[in-house]
Amino acid sequence: MIITIDGPAGVGKSTVAKMLAKKLNIAYFDTGAMYRAITYAIIKYKIDIENELAVLELLKNNFQYEIKEKNGLKLYFVNGEDVTETIRSNYITEAVSLVSAKAYVRQNLVPIQRKFAEDKDMICEGRDMGTVVFPNAKVKIYLTAKVTVRATRRFNEFVEKNPQNITTLDKHQILLDIQNRDEKDTKRKVSPLRKAKDAYHIDTSKLAAEMVVKKILKIIKKQKRIKFSYRVVSFLSKIFLKTFYKYQVYGKENLIKGAAIITSNHVSFLDPAIITASIDEELHFLAKESLFKVPFFKIIIKALNAHPISGKESNIQTIKKVKDILRSGQKVVLFPEGTRSYDGKVNKLLPGVGFLINLTKCTIIPAYIHGAHEVWERGRKFPKLFGKNKISCTFGKPIRHEEFEKIAKNERIPLILNRIETELKKLETWTENGCKGNLP
Ligand code: C5P
Repeated sequence: MIITIDGPAGVGKSTVAKMLAKKLNIAYFDTGAMYRAITYAIIKYKIDIENELAVLELLKNNFQYEIKEKNGLKLYFVNGEDVTETIRSNYITEAVSLVSAKAYVRQNLVPIQRKFAEDKDMICEGRDMGTVVFPNAKVKIYLTAKVTVRATRRFNEFVEKNPQNITTLDKHQILLDIQNRDEKDTKRKVSPLRKAKDAYHIDTSKLAAEMVVKKILKIIKKQKRIKFSYRVVSFLSKIFLKTFYKYQVYGKENLIKGAAIITSNHVSFLDPAIITASIDEELHFLAKESLFKVPFFKIIIKALNAHPISGKESNIQTIKKVKDILRSGQKVVLFPEGTRSYDGKVNKLLPGVGFLINLTKCTIIPAYIHGAHEVWERGRKFPKLFGKNKISCTFGKPIRHEEFEKIAKNERIPLILNRIETELKKLETWTENGCKGNLP
């Protein structure tokens, strides 16, 4: 699950993100440090920020950004140099908003930020986490506080770090710096700081960090709750499958945390319910537009977060939707054969699915459904309820996109499809042989 925390300078995002990460035992990611690090590199290598080509060259060939952890503290490195302290210096703070306002800087850093959060539960803090980088995050927080309060907090932090070095000018200077940064960060053209429509607003002016964390934990608890209609369908599916088909799930250990595309074989109308019952998190499905017209079935698939996909249009909207869901750390289920199998066997996969998977660069988890064809084959109005039919669902090993990255672009899609089909067939053989021994 991705939790985003956005807000202006000095509002306490980092403090809250750290405390929250500790409480939830998950990672946190300070994206401001990344903008500070690139600002440091631009200054160090004397690059003109207005010179787009030079900045892009730096980003591409001479900006190795690393985050390491030592004794619970995060250390930031640029090209092997520890810049943890330096990136907090005044000269960086003064310049960073100019750098972060450049579209060509953001276009390069945002994909890295998304990559950092891949396959993880993470708290991501910055200015555009909820609006641009993770628009589908399950929990979005927007923190604000009066500018004078924020300046005082920064001043107190400064005093703590530099007890011998306090002058009244420092406090005033901090206030001016914050106001200046607020102005630049909120008024810039690309990804300005603003509250995402679905973000929770917390004014921290009168709240200690502990109180803010408490409030966020409450919000997380509420948001984590799976949609009611989804829970009902999932619960009833489990009971139904267990009662009539002695349903079993194998390979749950292959269900990685966070975003993934689940590619399942398709043998019956029961398949979405089988997948839902087999995974204990709220999933999203892609379903043919025509299925939204089938009475009763349409109610079920809507409850199961099905998004329509049509064979005709370019489906740009669908691709965008899938990307947004994945970026938020959730899983999407696809039936890459496009239609229910006629004989219950794994069939050829549709090229469009390979295209979509290649675009998302997401990890794939193959899922093999067995037994549902015998229960509800094509042409039957209702599933067979009484008999010796058993249904199972088996998840294969995750297929990482890195596997295909070195392959020429024109060969990649057939290879992705071939890989998924091979894995599904391996799971098919393993199941038909009685689910014995290790999973393939
Ligand atoms: O959070 P912090 O104050 O360290 O951020 C430094 C600067 O980095 C911000 O003032 C802002 O200009 C930029 N930033 C951004 N987008 C983010 C995080 C930070 O533009 N997601």
